[in-house]
Amino acid sequence: MPRTSRKADQFSESVIREMTRLAAVTSTPQRPVVNLAQGFPDFAAPDVVKEAARRAIRDDVNQYAITWGAQSFRHALADKYRRHYGFHVDPETQLTVTCGATEGMIASLLAVIDPGDEVIVFEPFYENYGPDAVLSGAVPSYVVLDPADGFALDPQRLRAAVTPRTRGIIVNSPNNPTGKVFTADELGVIRDLCVEHDLVAFTDEIYEHIVYDGASHTPLATLDGMAERTCTVNALSKTYSVTGWRVGWVVAPPALTAAIRKVHDFLTVGAAAPLQEAGAVAAALPDAYYTSLGEFYRQRRDYLLGVLRDVGLEPVVPRGAYYTMVDCSPFADSDVDFAKRLVTDLGVACVPGSSFFREPRLGAGIVRFAFCKELATLEAAAERLAGLATW
Ligand code: GLN
Repeated sequence: MPRTSRKADQFSESVIREMTRLAAVTSTPQRPVVNLAQGFPDFAAPDVVKEAARRAIRDDVNQYAITWGAQSFRHALADKYRRHYGFHVDPETQLTVTCGATEGMIASLLAVIDPGDEVIVFEPFYENYGPDAVLSGAVPSYVVLDPADGFALDPQRLRAAVTPRTRGIIVNSPNNPTGKVFTADELGVIRDLCVEHDLVAFTDEIYEHIVYDGASHTPLATLDGMAERTCTVNALSKTYSVTGWRVGWVVAPPALTAAIRKVHDFLTVGAAAPLQEAGAVAAALPDAYYTSLGEFYRQRRDYLLGVLRDVGLEPVVPRGAYYTMVDCSPFADSDVDFAKRLVTDLGVACVPGSSFFREPRLGAGIVRFAFCKELATLEAAAERLAGLATW
């Protein structure tokens, strides 16, 4: 039997996607499982964006785009960064279009990190960052954001994680899975650290427009001294409800962009050309689109939080992104048991909290629910979750 690589042996399959598969195999025509595990919308993407994709295919935009991205799309993205944040991005030298933010993150790490370099990762973390570190040879150094303290960043704990081998830091704000939006002070602490120790920040900003209660998103790259040391990763997926299109991008200074483009070229050549044309249309949508997106998700957040509280699953109130972490400890000994039983007994899928922690026990009393769903879907979940009363 040929053996598999030591790299591949070091991490397991995605638990998030496994829960979606479990939901699919547990579903019956009479009782389809309500999937609040994987964070993908179950509603339509904006018509104008879909129409642009149709038009591009009709017009035969069917061959490779420029490997680092269609010019129209890169220019539209640069315009959007200027409009929204006053952030000046040269679309010719500072932008690389990738196959989703997932490729954007791994291509950036592969371009910047040498094996053995340390990269700081906040914990709990989005599950990709662990395998990303393994694949790029990085040694992750975890900094816990304390749930008991509202996931606040402890500057001393962060500083203590820096060693002479530290090369970078991964920052995901608005954050999956906690819903945390890093404050201006916290971003300032990260900035100071990056500048002082010559670190590269890899920021996953995919939930930039999904914020609540007056919270707002600030790209780390817009802070003094950060544009030259930040890889800003993002995608169409969450902002325009097209997670299956796999179109993302990285903004980085020219020297880093040159390396990212090389890695990207040999990894995937490029993202789907017609969908990049649609991306150019999406990026030009007026501000009202983003305001209504935030409001749309706020309604769903508030509804699901109420449902969860009513059934005794105390939720964390997210200020951004579209997930909530809840305390499942009153109902089960472990998050995995709870999540499995919830699917099989009640027909609702969630994600076990342990998949967001390096040490499973830290997430053992937590599960994550996604609320990027039609209200009718959340209502169906509410009916099922009422069954917890008799567990
Ligand atoms: N980001 C989404 C989540 O956390 C989807 C993850 C994925 O499957 N790529 O659920």
